[in-house]
Amino acid sequence: MNPTTPDLHDRRFFGHPRGLATLFMTELWERFSYYGTRALLILLMTAAPSAGGLGFDVPKAGAIYGLYTSMVYMMSLPGGWLADRFLGLRRAVWWGGLLIALGNACLAVDDPRFFYGGLVVVVLGTGLLKPNVSTIVGQLYQPGDARRDSGFSLFYMGINLGAFLSPLACGWLGQRVNWHLGFALASAGMTLGVIQYLAGGRHLPRTALRPAAPATAAEKRQLRFGLLAVAAALVLFGTLDLTAQQLSDGLGVFLLLLSVAFFAWLFSLGHWTPVERKRLVVVGVLFLASSLFWCMFEQAGSTLNLFAQRSTRNSVFGFVFPASWLQSMNALFIILLAPVFAWIWIKLGRREPSSPAKFVCGLMAGGLGFAVIALGALAADSGGRVSVLWLMAVYLLHTVGELCLSPVGLSAMTKLAPARIGGLLMGVWFLSTSVGNYMGGRFASLYEALPLPQLFGLVAAFGIVAGFLLALFTRPTERLMGGVK
Ligand code: GLU
Ligand code: ASP
Repeated sequence: MNPTTPDLHDRRFFGHPRGLATLFMTELWERFSYYGTRALLILLMTAAPSAGGLGFDVPKAGAIYGLYTSMVYMMSLPGGWLADRFLGLRRAVWWGGLLIALGNACLAVDDPRFFYGGLVVVVLGTGLLKPNVSTIVGQLYQPGDARRDSGFSLFYMGINLGAFLSPLACGWLGQRVNWHLGFALASAGMTLGVIQYLAGGRHLPRTALRPAAPATAAEKRQLRFGLLAVAAALVLFGTLDLTAQQLSDGLGVFLLLLSVAFFAWLFSLGHWTPVERKRLVVVGVLFLASSLFWCMFEQAGSTLNLFAQRSTRNSVFGFVFPASWLQSMNALFIILLAPVFAWIWIKLGRREPSSPAKFVCGLMAGGLGFAVIALGALAADSGGRVSVLWLMAVYLLHTVGELCLSPVGLSAMTKLAPARIGGLLMGVWFLSTSVGNYMGGRFASLYEALPLPQLFGLVAAFGIVAGFLLALFTRPTERLMGGVK
C-alpha cells in the first residue's frame, strides 16, 4: 500500500485505517504522561521537604500549576506553525515525544534544580506533539470520508484511556512509593509511545513528513531571530530572579493583551462580508464561555486535588487509595458517557440544541459542580473528612459539561471560521483553554486564603452567572450564526 494515496478499504483498526492505531497509541501515551504528571504536580509542590516534597506554599504552587498548564496549551500555537512551515507534522510529533520523555525524566531526578527545567521541556514537547498528532489523524481520511468524525471519537477515547490509567499508576507510585518514580513512569510511558510511533511510521501519510507550506528564506531568518529573542528573554528572566507569582501576573497581562489584540485585529480587517462578521462575533462569545468553562474544569488537578488530599476520606469498602486516583474519574466518566451523549444527539435529531445552547449547559454544569463541592467543604468545615462521593459528583457534573462543550466547540470553530483563517481559529480554541487553565491556577492560589466554602461558592457563582448570561443571549447568538448550528 502506498500511504500517499490512502487505501479507502483499509479498515484494520475498528473499521479505520491502520495508521489510526499508531496515532491512537501515541496520543494515549502522551496523555498518560501529561495527566500522570498533572495528578502529582500540586501534591509534590505542597508536600513538606521531610515528606520528599518541595515545600512550596499554596499561592506559589497554584501559580506554578497555572503557569505550567496554561503554557502547555499556548505552545500549541507555535507548535502547529513550526510543523506547517519547518518540520512537517510527523517530525514535529517525534521531536515532541522525545522532549516530553526527556522533561519527565528531569522531573524524576530528585533535585529541585531539575524541576523547572523539566516542566519547561514538557511544555515545549507537548506544544509540538499535541496539535500535530490530531492533524495527522485528519489526514488519514480523504475529503468526504464519512468515517472521519468517528475516527476522531475513537481518538478521543485514546486520550481518555491514557488520562484514566495514568493517575492510577503514576499517582500510586508517586504518592505511595516515591514522588520521582511517578514521573519516571510518565517518562517511560512516553518513551514506549515514541517507539511504537516510529515502528508504525509506514502506516502514516508520507505527505506529513514534509512541511505543508515550507518556510521561505526570509521566514527562516525570522525564525532564527525569534529563537534568539526568546533565548535572550529567558536569560533576562533568569537574571531578574522573578518569583512564581510575578511570572504568573506577567502571563495574565500577556494573555489578556493577546486575546484582546487578536480579536481587535480580526475585526479591524475590512474584508469580511456581513455574515462572516456576525459569525466572528459568535466566535468571540464562544471563546469567552470556553475560557470560563476550562477555568472551572481544570481545577481538577489543583483545588479539587488538594481537597481530595486534605478533606476527603479516600476509601471504598475499607480499601484506602491515594488522593490522586480521583484524577481518573473524569476520564472514566468520559469513556462511559461519550457514547450515551452521541446517542442522545442523534435521537434528538433536528431538536438537537445549538452550539451556544450546549455551551450554556457546559457552564451551568461546571458551576453546579462547584456548588456541590462548596456544600462538601461546608460539611468538612469542622476539620473532618467527607465522603468521596462529593468529589465523584463534581467530576460527573464536570464531565457532562465537558461533553456538552468540548467536542462541540472544536467543530463549531471549523464551521464558523471564514475559510482563510481556519487554522488560526483552531489555535484560538487552544488559546481559550490556555486562558482557562491560567485563571484556574489563580483560584488555586487562593486555596488557603479564603474559607473553602467561600472559594468554591465563588467559582460556582461565577459559572452559573456566566451560564445565565449566555442563556439570555442564546437566541441572538444563534441568529448571528447565519444558518450554522
Ligand atoms: N482533556 C482533553 C485532552 O486532554 C481536552 C483538553 C482541552 O481541550 O482543554 O486532550
Ligand atoms: N477528559 C479529559 C480530556 O479529554 C481528560 C482528563 O481531563 O482527564 O479529554
